This record gives sequence, C-alpha cells and structure tokens, in this order.
Amino acid sequence: MPIAVRSGGHGLSGASSNNGGVVIDLSMLNRVQVLDERAGLVRVEAGARWANVAKALAPYGLVVSSGDYGGVGVGGLATGGGVGWLVRAHGLTIDRVRAVEVVLADGTLVRADAEHEPELFWLVRGAGAGAGIVLAFEIEAAEQRNVGVARLVVEAHPDGRTIREWTSYLARAPRELSAAAVVFAEGRSVLMSVTAVVAAESLRRAGQWWNRCSPSARCSNTGPTCCPTRRWCRPRTCIPTSGSSGARPRTACSPRWTTPGRGPSPER
Ligand SMILES: Cc1cc2nc3c(=O)[nH]c(=O)nc-3n(C[C@H](O)[C@H](O)[C@H](O)COP(=O)(O)OP(=O)(O)OC[C@H]3O[C@@H](n4cnc5c(N)ncnc54)[C@H](O)[C@@H]3O)c2cc1C
Repeated sequence: MPIAVRSGGHGLSGASSNNGGVVIDLSMLNRVQVLDERAGLVRVEAGARWANVAKALAPYGLVVSSGDYGGVGVGGLATGGGVGWLVRAHGLTIDRVRAVEVVLADGTLVRADAEHEPELFWLVRGAGAGAGIVLAFEIEAAEQRNVGVARLVVEAHPDGRTIREWTSYLARAPRELSAAAVVFAEGRSVLMSVTAVVAAESLRRAGQWWNRCSPSARCSNTGPTCCPTRRWCRPRTCIPTSGSSGARPRTACSPRWTTPGRGPSPER
C-alpha cells in the first residue's frame, strides 16, 4: 500500500499525497519553541507553517530564513533546501538546521546532529523525504527585527537585456538584498515584476543600499498604483534597466517597513 508523508501539503510534485493509500499527516505537530533565546536556538515541528514560525519568533527578534510563501510547511521545505526572502542575508533553511528528530523506516526515533548520526543528519538536509519522517528540527535562528520590502514592475526589453542588467546588478548588490523577479507578457509588452527584501536593521542602512542604485534609472509617476511620494519612488530607481535600455518603468512600488511575521509580507 502506498504511504505518503505530508507536512504543509504544498509540495509541487504531489508526493505528499496518493490514491488509495495512506497519508501520514503531520499538521498537528506544529509547535514552535525557543530553546535558547541568546543562542537563537529554536525547535520547530514539521507540521508548522512558515508564517506561524515567523509569528512565533517575531517577539524575540528572531527569524528563520525560509521560503517566499507563509503557507508552505516546515517539513517539506526544511528537508529540501529552502530558498526565500532572506536567502542572501541568512542562507538556505538547511544551512541553519542544527539537529533533527527522525523516525526511520523500522520505526526507530533518532536524533541526528553533526556528532550523532552525522550521515543521517547530512542526508536529511536536502534529501530528507528519502531518509525517514522528520518530526522536528532544531534551527539556529538569526537576529533580525526589521526588513524593508519593495515591489515594482518595469517594462522589460524583449531582447533580454533588462533581465541581464538586473541579474548583474543583483550579483554586485549587498547581501542584505534578496529579490525574486517574474517575467510575463502583457499584450505586446514584456513586464518584469520584482519583489525585493532588504534585511537591514535600520532605515539608514537600507538607505545606503538604495543610494548605491543606478543613477541612470528613472522613476515614473505613471501607472495604476504609482508611488505616492518622491520618497517612495527612490527604491524603484534601483532598477538599473530603465535608464540604460530605454524601457519605461510601468507601475507600482510599495516599499514599507515591517517586522517579520507581524506586518504585511510578500505573498503569491
Ligand atoms: C506557493 C508555493 C511557494 C513556494 N515557495 C518556495 C520558496 O520560496 N522556497 C522554496 O525553497 N520552496 C518553495 N516552494 C516549494 C516548497 O518548499 C516545497 O514544495 C516543499 O516541499 C513544501 O513543503 P510542505 O511541507 O508544504 O510540502 P508537503 O507537500 O507536505 O511535502 C513535500 C515533500 O516533502 C516530503 N515531506 C514533507 N514533510 C516531511 C517530513 N516531515 N519528513 C520527511 N519528508 C517530508 C513529502 O513526503 C513530499 O515528498 C513553494 C511551493 C509553493 C506551492
């Protein structure tokens, strides 16, 4: 009989479900505990969702680098990798896992870390679905009280130069900046939508980042939800494509300061 293991059920392959078999659903195992506040050590059960992890850790000023969508489960993402809004500042989720509690195929419960069962510990961080059922993760959270978020859309040049300029800009940008870009068609235009997160504690530090942006970029006040003030236009000038490629910035930027898990967060 087929058996599937499910934490958040957001897996893209559908491997956490099956037809006519058994699904081991871990969603009730969803506790988030701070084990050592000073060391940032937290224990997160596999069935928790990342939005709840962020919410539970926010009062401590702690964050775990996870994905880009709060509804994704801890179990699937923390056994697979974990690329998200804090990745350039704080690494992959698996980079910060310090121990795991795993049920193996023979039913034994094992705690694995760098010293005990190190090979199992290595396997779980990337290929965890093949190792057993991970019940909980001990993760070293990072201190991070604030993040800056900006969303913007620019018209991209059809020959791909906008994307090339953006990627080369990103490669040189400070590690506090993580961003995701989606390219899509709108009529005969090609648009590039960028969500950028700056993991900087202070407005001053974030300002330093914005100020390094391309001076050739322009800020347009046209578009459906355009920047209400010059101040909010500044982040959009960070798109280095608008000046050099001649592409016209199209729509919105809505940068704001938020505390992870408390304020509004990027959603899909
Ligand atoms: C809207 C959306 C946004 C996403 N964004 C990101 C992103 O920003 N970054 C990123 O890295 N990924 C992202 N993903 C991919 C996502 O991280 C993976 O699909 C992840 O596996 C989902 O975890 P889950 O617990 O919700 O999934 P599930 O569907 O529950 O599980 C996915 C896989 O992991 C296995 N698994 C689940 N729990 C355990 C466990 N406790 N022990 C062992 N194996 C287990 C399952 O058997 C299955 O094979 C996104 C997916 C979606 C749908």
